[in-house]
Amino acid sequence: MKKDIITVTSPLLPSLEEFEPLLKDIWERKWLTNNGHYHKELEKALAEYLGVEYISLFTNGTLPLITALQAMRITGEVITTPYSFVATTHSIWWNGLKPVFVDVDPTTGNLDPQKIEEAITPKTTAIMPVHVYGNPCDIDAIQEIADRYGLAVIYDAAHAFNVKIDGKTILDAGDMSTLSFHATKTYNTVEGGALICRDARTKKRIDYLKNFGFAGETTVVAPGINSKMDEIRAAYGLCNLKHIDSAIAARKKVAQKYRAALTNVTGISMFNERDDVTYNYSYFPIFVNEKEYGISRDALYEKMKEQNVLGRRYFYPLISDFAIYRGLPSASKENLPVATRMANEVICLPMHASLTEDDIERILTLIVK
Ligand SMILES: *Cc1c(COP(=O)(O)O)cnc(C)c1O
Repeated sequence: MKKDIITVTSPLLPSLEEFEPLLKDIWERKWLTNNGHYHKELEKALAEYLGVEYISLFTNGTLPLITALQAMRITGEVITTPYSFVATTHSIWWNGLKPVFVDVDPTTGNLDPQKIEEAITPKTTAIMPVHVYGNPCDIDAIQEIADRYGLAVIYDAAHAFNVKIDGKTILDAGDMSTLSFHATKTYNTVEGGALICRDARTKKRIDYLKNFGFAGETTVVAPGINSKMDEIRAAYGLCNLKHIDSAIAARKKVAQKYRAALTNVTGISMFNERDDVTYNYSYFPIFVNEKEYGISRDALYEKMKEQNVLGRRYFYPLISDFAIYRGLPSASKENLPVATRMANEVICLPMHASLTEDDIERILTLIVK
């Protein structure tokens, strides 16, 4: 008989006991959305928790990307990474802009600053990097290039909830950073997201944009969209925020066990951890070198699946390999050798706070030979 399924992710959930009183309160207030009580509370709590000054809540993690490009009035070409979730490039496309793919650094999976510079043209106006798996980008090098060429930097920080360098958040890097609070992410509000900016004036513009562009009862200042977070999810998010530290601590323990067991397995590699970074352990990617390991990534993935251990080939295929984008000149494999290799070798192992010792043992025995 097959053992129970171990899923790649499992949502962090508040208890119903703690959520219910907040629901009752919302029922009494009869105010369900449009910057209500819990929306304000969650914005305040998240700003404090994350150590950022200006944060706007959204219904998901894709709309803040789209809105950030709108808010900064980006035109022309945007340099971005193919090694991410499709939403990163889609947000560029939805703004009628041209994505330009640049290869990644094998030690982080993030945009390689030197290759960013080589891809700049007179039409380039912005860079959209991703802190993939919560690994910080080379923020200083990217900013230096952006400053020299006068480019905006919008970070897709969907994986970087509360990631810090030397105890300081990385969410204030660049001009703006976005977060996703999707159910599968480290911190969730069921669906949800946020846009972090640097000043009150920009936050105001973002808040107009996420509410159809309304700046007053009868004033519309921009072609905005509707991406406001509702009261129920904001209340749920407040409950979940109480559990995020212990959830990240539990993930860290899982990561430590994986790392210890896989360090000397020939043909399996992992990212190195930096001593100065506080990680959130949102994912645990391993890379399978077929020649050294003996079987391919897909063979290992299938072998795990047969035993009800569900990994995820994340990120595979590359965004640049999807039919919509593969015609772009920058999408060629020759332009993206590192990202192409990573996409062919990666498996994200199950990673969530509720994995037991037995689960971890079961997963590891399938990989360690
Ligand atoms: C999850 C994710 C998004 C999109 O977030 P949603 O909340 O699902 O819309 C964007 N970028 C990256 C890198 C993601 O992982």
